[in-house]
Amino acid sequence: MKQYPQSQKPVILLNIDSLMPEPLEVAVQTGRAPALQFLMENGTYIPNMVSSFPTMSVTIDSSLLTGTYANKHHIPGLNWFDDSRNEIINYGTGFRETFRLGMRRSIHNMLYRLNNEHLSSEVTTIYEELANIGIQSASINSFVYRGNTPQRLHVPRLLSTLTRFENGKWTTNTPATLSLGLFSKLRPRGFTMQIAAGNYKYTARELRHLIRKNKLPGFTFCIFQDMDARIHFKGPTDIKDITKIDRQIQKTLNMYPSWEEALNQNIWMVMGDNGQAATGTSYRKFIIDLRKILKKYRIARIERPVHKKDQLVLCVNQRMGYIYVLDNRLPLPAVIERLKSDHRIDIIAWKEKDSIHVLSGMREGLLIYRPKGEHSDVYNQTWKIEGNHELLDLYISNEKKVSYGDYPDALARLYSALHSHSGRFIVVNAKPGCDFKAQSTPFHLSGAAHGSLHKQETLVPLVIAGTTEKPTFPRLIDMKAFILRIISQQYKG
Ligand SMILES: [Zn+2]
Repeated sequence: MKQYPQSQKPVILLNIDSLMPEPLEVAVQTGRAPALQFLMENGTYIPNMVSSFPTMSVTIDSSLLTGTYANKHHIPGLNWFDDSRNEIINYGTGFRETFRLGMRRSIHNMLYRLNNEHLSSEVTTIYEELANIGIQSASINSFVYRGNTPQRLHVPRLLSTLTRFENGKWTTNTPATLSLGLFSKLRPRGFTMQIAAGNYKYTARELRHLIRKNKLPGFTFCIFQDMDARIHFKGPTDIKDITKIDRQIQKTLNMYPSWEEALNQNIWMVMGDNGQAATGTSYRKFIIDLRKILKKYRIARIERPVHKKDQLVLCVNQRMGYIYVLDNRLPLPAVIERLKSDHRIDIIAWKEKDSIHVLSGMREGLLIYRPKGEHSDVYNQTWKIEGNHELLDLYISNEKKVSYGDYPDALARLYSALHSHSGRFIVVNAKPGCDFKAQSTPFHLSGAAHGSLHKQETLVPLVIAGTTEKPTFPRLIDMKAFILRIISQQYKG
């Protein structure tokens, strides 16, 4: 591999929503993604980076930018229940649900409260840490954007009646450069049909604008959001959008005298955020309607505030769900027993004192674990584990070394979801092929879905070109330290 000069090379991280290793490899080896092929052949390819849990974009992007799982950054999913305020928080799981909950609330939740109220102030984002050492960043098309430069954002007139921001303006802390659909544009005449995010062409044009104007900061994070929707509909093997996005990356690399020169001037990284698991065709067989399983209980309805008499709140994140038991007289085991009767639920987990308890609708036995103990896993985390470890497909050697099968980094990731927010709740995970449903949540038949702990939606690819450095472990939570390390090394010199 060629050596590149260690002078200052801005890092550009491209996150392609729902990019998975196999479709990427197929696109590259059949000549349908020349730019990605060039980066892979001239860089490092890691096909099995572990994503966050739930495998939903806001939780994942928060993990990527803060280097922590949800127990630290406190973004539990796209859809969760805030028990301190007795309120369902939805950042916009789908058109139907968003509409019912009120556009106004979703936009406000997504753009303002996520960054300014929910994302924990105990963690720092990569943008904040870089700014502290005098290095600027850019965020293009990401809903998670917290930095430390106050910016006044404008709500387009068309939308100002739909949002809670006074006069359609609000101040929020962002990286020095922010591009976010119509709210904040880098190119004065740029136009997007989407309100809060731009499509792949818009996103790539905003990036090329920074390169053309010589305004690339030390770190640029750029998200392409288009592929996700297509794969939900077409299934996980579709590669058409990889080809389309690759064409935009080609155009970007073409701005340099040669593609090799693009690697001399910048460090390029391309990654996915979550995979997708193919879903079955029959509603009856593959859609797990949690309201049906729990019909004995009074379930809160999402279009009105949670009522005193409501016993349960259901917050579905596609193939994972949070089940909140509000009624203190209702024992958790009663609800768990109902869930266990459905053989399509592969993991049922909850907190009990300091431990996590795990049951399954598919397997017998109980697994109990907690952090710090005599077992040590492949990421150097230690645990105390008792019971049937097959429930999380763990492999435990005679030396008490733990490695993971179907559920990568399962112990830490499941722990993180159960400690991501307060409340009395159960986490459920659907087996591959299945999808959860609650009131008005979108479900995905004959296509694909994500959200779960399973490796199908957990393992994502990462391509690194322009440096030979790699993250310490192949996990998204190790990206922040990795990027900080390569940037601070350069700027020291
Ligand atoms: Zn999706």
